[in-house]
Amino acid sequence: MAYVRNLIGGDWIEALDGATHEVRDPATDALVASVPRCGAAEAGLAVDAAAQAAGAWRDRPALERAAIVRRWGELVLAHTDELAEVLTREEGKPLAEARGEIAYAASFLTGAADLAPHFHGDVIPAPVAGKHIVVLRPPVGVVAAITPWNFPAAMITRKLGPALAVGCTAVIKPAEQAPLTGLALARLAGEAGVPPGVLNAITGDAPAIGKTWLGDARVRKLSFTGSTEVGRILVRQAAEHLTRLSLELGGLAPFVVFDDADLEAAVRGAVISKFRNAGQTCICPNRFYVQRSVHEEFVGRLQRALTELRLGHGLDDGVTTGPLIDDDGVAKVRAQIADARDRGAVLRMGGEIVRPAEGLTARFCTPTVLDGLTPEMAIAHEETFGPVAAVGVFDEESQGFALANASPYGLAAYAYTRDLARAWRAAEAIDAGIVGINDGAVSTAVAPFGGTKASGWGREGGRWALEAYTEIKYVSIG
Ligand code: ADP
Repeated sequence: MAYVRNLIGGDWIEALDGATHEVRDPATDALVASVPRCGAAEAGLAVDAAAQAAGAWRDRPALERAAIVRRWGELVLAHTDELAEVLTREEGKPLAEARGEIAYAASFLTGAADLAPHFHGDVIPAPVAGKHIVVLRPPVGVVAAITPWNFPAAMITRKLGPALAVGCTAVIKPAEQAPLTGLALARLAGEAGVPPGVLNAITGDAPAIGKTWLGDARVRKLSFTGSTEVGRILVRQAAEHLTRLSLELGGLAPFVVFDDADLEAAVRGAVISKFRNAGQTCICPNRFYVQRSVHEEFVGRLQRALTELRLGHGLDDGVTTGPLIDDDGVAKVRAQIADARDRGAVLRMGGEIVRPAEGLTARFCTPTVLDGLTPEMAIAHEETFGPVAAVGVFDEESQGFALANASPYGLAAYAYTRDLARAWRAAEAIDAGIVGINDGAVSTAVAPFGGTKASGWGREGGRWALEAYTEIKYVSIG
């Protein structure tokens, strides 16, 4: 059985007390590897290493840092086969999706390398003769990153690409369910020339590690992707040192289909946005609202499209839909389907938790369509994280917008219409950080990614990420 160590200060280490944590394939429960179970002590050592490396890395010319980050991105791409296989084994998504995620992950590294050398401060004409006003953009310093299991590669590079490119050093903790891809990325960073201590990666006791990092004044920023519940804990802990936070938290995306929509395109968008990664993404639609006159046709077409999906192990040919990540995930999806049906939803398709083949776990949810969504149902206000489309109807356009906004979250939203004026009204009326108009695949490294309301603070991607990892320092020269 493989044992994959953690990285601190250029050394591959074990937990100080030798404790380990097992990573299992969610599709089979087979042991994939074990990793160190680190805690507060190792979290502190990781910060020591990052703090020690900070000065020299900050002082490297921006072009040199960018060249290293670019090389890291190129190495990630060159290792797509190996990384994608590890990713599928620990997370469960189909291999084709895992390969797509590796390319997406690499694009955050090469994208940051492209932008960072051109990201600079300003010279402002002074209001007083003889003065000069200069605005510098130094790196914030040591950055901590805590990432989720559903995109074990991309959520790490989305933070570390820009952070390292602008001159920060980092400590990171991948999610316990799927830490192996992140540790493999850390190894490639070293091969690309990221110096010892600039990137440190530990696995283990998440609450202890998070608390240690936010309790350490040397950590100047924490970037977190995960649940709103944990986000709130981190906000409280960040109060101590007023650590800057970027928080990409839960979503509950609405998917609004108007009567003038191209229904074929809407169904394609629904399948890709809702059923990718077995519905376990934070920008997944959780609530479909379809205008009454096209509702029946949309649901029928969606059902037909979903018959094409194939459950199974992500490494097997032809599989489109892997397992849910763990038994808690299964229990939540099962409970939401039962709750919706108790409250009057009609099960149009799926709704079962199955073991698709001999040797696989009973952690697979058949593609599910629930009709008759109402606001009282849990699925209307709690993130599902499963391949379940819950569909409701509306009559007037304004009602569609109101339903879309009836949520404490505001990460992504989708609207389908052929009417340009209506498309603009939707883009303006819907309160979300990301609005896909006739587009179900909105993720890209060049655009700002993040949400409003309980979906968090800040944006990742493009120049917005560079801003997030830099200070603004104003120098007045008399
Ligand atoms: P999910 O529901 O996607 O697992 P979580 O918010 O529980 O979302 O997990 C996201 C990341 O946050 C993971 O890396 C997890 O280990 C970490 N985490 C969980 N609880 C805490 C905590 N109390 N403090 C810091 N990190 C935490």
